Amino acid sequence: MSFVHIVVLAGGVGGARFLAGLRAAAPGARLTAVVNTGDDVTVHGLRICPDLDTVMYTLGGGIDPGRGWGRAGESWTVREELAAYGAEPTWFGLGDRDLATHLVRTRMLDAGYPLSQVTAALADRWRPGVELLPMSDQRVETHVVVADPDEEGRPTGRQRAVHFQEWWVRLRAEPEARGFVQVGVDAARPAPGVAEALATADAVLVAPSNPVVSVGTILGVPGLREALLATPGRIVGVSPIVAGAVVRGMADRCLPVLGVEVSAEGVGRHYGARSAGGLLDAWLVHTGDGAAVPGVDVRAVPLLMSSPGTTAALARAALDAAGA
Ligand code: GDP
Ligand code: CA
Repeated sequence: MSFVHIVVLAGGVGGARFLAGLRAAAPGARLTAVVNTGDDVTVHGLRICPDLDTVMYTLGGGIDPGRGWGRAGESWTVREELAAYGAEPTWFGLGDRDLATHLVRTRMLDAGYPLSQVTAALADRWRPGVELLPMSDQRVETHVVVADPDEEGRPTGRQRAVHFQEWWVRLRAEPEARGFVQVGVDAARPAPGVAEALATADAVLVAPSNPVVSVGTILGVPGLREALLATPGRIVGVSPIVAGAVVRGMADRCLPVLGVEVSAEGVGRHYGARSAGGLLDAWLVHTGDGAAVPGVDVRAVPLLMSSPGTTAALARAALDAAGA
């Protein structure tokens, strides 16, 4: 049996690479990516959607493969000119090529188009081979609660919330997070197409994305978890944690905030068994990583997406676990 329609929950780099493997592993299948927008931010008046752009550029062949984000062949003239004006923020790098994407997006949003339609219009150029859906058309921005020390860095007992991008990019996730807040989430709904895709998909795959600020944010959209749990096929997750460590990035700074151990087992238990009100029917962990997740079909396969071939093999293993 081969699947006709597969839905993937995705963040940025981990989601994008996994989708590229899935596209190779399931030629002919309809693929829908539901992408985190909690990292979205407005910089210099422009609306930036880092995870949507990473997925779109990766699948469209425009990504800088070394950095894993932004455009290949990028130049930075505008950034230099902004710095010469002392225009803040200087820590969020927008390349010249990338800026065109944000200009088009911002103009369309200002004209009243919802993000889902803007995303489809941008994808018209990139032809990612995957239907790209933001998790929601409403703005949901992840903020991180951190300590607010005085000028000399002494503790004050006060806390403040900073935008996720400021914590992640400018502060390198160093100030200990005390919590994550999804600003705007109460008024959010799944974007058009999300619930419909989940209602008819043959399988749902949870990409090896950040469980807290990518997948967790998607699941926080009211109604989305319910739509997911009602999906008729199996739900298969892929661990972003290999041998007790993140493969890249700083997800290990996020998991302990929720009391989740940085291990494939910890994340698997955090997602939980679908039969017990959690998410998963099956959970893929890296070869050699044991994980006991009650009620979940745990399978060990190579999880490193180091080449197109290994990534496609991983996607095939996920489809196997989904019963394809
Ligand atoms: P971001 O939005 O760009 O941070 O990306 P995601 O949320 O989609 O993915 C980040 C996660 O991808 C990190 O927790 C990494 O551990 C994971 N990741 C990156 N490369 C790999 C890989 O090759 N294999 C696996 N299993 N996970 C990976
Ligand atoms: Ca992200």
